Amino acid sequence: MSAQLLDGKAVAKRMHTDIKKDVAALQAESGVTPGLATVLVGDDDASRMYVKMKHNRCADVGIESFGHEIPPTASQEEVEKVIDDLNADPRVHGILVQLPLPDHLDTEPILDRIAVHKDVDGLHPLNIGALAIKGRMPMFTPATPTGCLVLLREAELLIDSFSIEGANAVVLGRSNLVGMPMALLLVENNATVTVAHSRTRDLQAVLADADIVVSAVGRPHMVPGEWIKHGAVVIDVATVKVDDPSAKKGYRWVGDVEPEEAMKRAAAMTPVPGGVGPMTVAMLLQNTLNAARRYHA
Ligand code: NAP
Repeated sequence: MSAQLLDGKAVAKRMHTDIKKDVAALQAESGVTPGLATVLVGDDDASRMYVKMKHNRCADVGIESFGHEIPPTASQEEVEKVIDDLNADPRVHGILVQLPLPDHLDTEPILDRIAVHKDVDGLHPLNIGALAIKGRMPMFTPATPTGCLVLLREAELLIDSFSIEGANAVVLGRSNLVGMPMALLLVENNATVTVAHSRTRDLQAVLADADIVVSAVGRPHMVPGEWIKHGAVVIDVATVKVDDPSAKKGYRWVGDVEPEEAMKRAAAMTPVPGGVGPMTVAMLLQNTLNAARRYHA
């Protein structure tokens, strides 16, 4: 048996169609065009490519986007001033700071400075805190973990016997960006959650009973396919560029989970690329639309 593919590209495309309709409806009702501002500090090629992709998708669905490129030598104060200006700009409903920031900058105070109602990446401590408190609703949930959750819901539709509720879920990684909010979202959705990290003693044993695996480490093929439980649903968040002389571009993107054997054992699995990446962008667009609706309600 081979795993069903959790096609993030296709799910994201469906979401874009809905978002485009909703953006047009908001414009017709209130004259408001949702606006997303991106903040790119430095000249990292991959970061620039991710930002460009986000602007292109905004254009596809009718969201206005504002790009702010800041030189790599910018000071903490200069970056914070850009955030302050965007917080005050009524055309901007969502602010995204592309991570990682150059080493000399302190990321947390910059993210904390984003107005909580414009925090479409969902990384403000108030939003993460609300996610962790039972009965509290964050204004936004972080884009990548929320995209993973949508893919798990998709798996529920594809596989009769699969349900997030009551499942044993293992999240690999405990970063603020992916691992921890993912674990919180899974708990919120009634999974029984284990968070594995660099100090976890026996990862194979931890994975042996995992009905859900969400892997966000960034170490190519660190999880052998044989470690995946038969019938599990696997979401591979990692996207790492590795050299591949046989590929046209000389490189390819790989995830944490070795896919060949994993695909034989899992019930459903995301491809890398084309799994979680497109979902992250779709969730960002959805959060920006929600921010604009809330702002003008
Ligand atoms: P990160 O901040 O570097 O966190 C990596 C996590 O992996 C840490 O918590 C670390 O544990 C853990 N780890 C390291 N070695 C491990 C091991 N042997 N076993 C288990 N856990 C281990 O990375 P991130 O920002 O969360 O991103 C993770 C990956 O997801 C990267 O490849 C990134 O490119 C990708 N990503 C993709 C998207 C997308 O849209 N597709 C979005 C965001 C991130 P410690 O805490 O103990 O150090």
